[in-house]
Amino acid sequence: MTSIATLGSHCALQVLKGAKDEGFKTLLVCEKKRESLYRRFPFIDDLILVNSFNDILDQRCSTQLAEKDAIVIPHGTLISQMTSSEIESIKTPIFGNRWILRWESDRKMKEEMMIDSKLNVPRSIPSPKEIKGLSIAKRHGAAGGKGYFLTTSEKDYEKKRDQLISDGLIKNDNDLYLQEYAYGVSAYLQYFHSAIKGQLEFFGVDRRYESDIDGLGRIPASQQLDTYRIPSFNVVGNSPLVLRESLLEEVYAMGERFIESAKKLVPPGMIGPFCLEGVYDDNSTFTTFEFSARIVAGTNLYIDGSPYSSLTYGEPMSMGKRIAREIKEAKKENKLQRIIT
Ligand code: AMP
Repeated sequence: MTSIATLGSHCALQVLKGAKDEGFKTLLVCEKKRESLYRRFPFIDDLILVNSFNDILDQRCSTQLAEKDAIVIPHGTLISQMTSSEIESIKTPIFGNRWILRWESDRKMKEEMMIDSKLNVPRSIPSPKEIKGLSIAKRHGAAGGKGYFLTTSEKDYEKKRDQLISDGLIKNDNDLYLQEYAYGVSAYLQYFHSAIKGQLEFFGVDRRYESDIDGLGRIPASQQLDTYRIPSFNVVGNSPLVLRESLLEEVYAMGERFIESAKKLVPPGMIGPFCLEGVYDDNSTFTTFEFSARIVAGTNLYIDGSPYSSLTYGEPMSMGKRIAREIKEAKKENKLQRIIT
């Protein structure tokens, strides 16, 4: 019997709860230090205990996963803790397109796909010398916003970069990607692309709650300068959002264009959950500064369904459950090979 497996972090609870509700066996690759947390949840059938998530590459772990006929659901922790080559070498079948994860991790490839999708993307800044207006320096990979900073000049950039180097967060300029700051309010658009039905589903929207940047409003500007430190964008949680209904048409159009582009640039294309991440400006125009080509943690908000999934499904539908449903239907129709790699 097929098991649904994932790494013990990020959205593992949602994914395995959804899998259990759809009738699958569930399996967690769990770091020993987190065992007691995950044992609290009865919908997790088995744990493979590891010292580090990279153990998923070892023969012992691969064999255990194979014995349970596991399909791995990739999430942000897989991407932040492993290189793209390591992910591509995982022996266990992965739900979705494992090669698209490289396009998520590599900033240049990411930018190429967003531009090809005709998304409105902030200008990337090739060198600190070319910083003009407000800009953001971001680390590569799914760093969760930690160590990101805002800057307006080369001199200020160098000061902050040196601080990050001495904090051990980066090694040099190559670890940072510079992009124009996009003004507006943030929105993370969560989608699911069913490769079986050939259908795009809009699942929900969230906002991130990021420390220190979202707490700055509580400190008067003068005191922010007195007690200067580089405010980071470290995600601590997510909050829900619904959009003005008039924005939905473009939400679907952006999702469709992204799917088209992914199909062309990295076959077999975008399979399953993905997220377009950006801001709406004062004209309600969306600027996309990121995408995630897999489930995002913001979907943890909607374990009982979101305002959008409620419109599409006559039952509570989380993203985790939707993934499991897709695997179940693919198995039934003998199409599993179309949604795993
Ligand atoms: P990311 O890792 O790219 O999702 O970025 C983490 C956070 O940095 C986002 O949630 C935003 O708050 C912020 N951010 C990233 N890129 C930009 C941008 N170009 N303009 C404005 N804010 C950004």
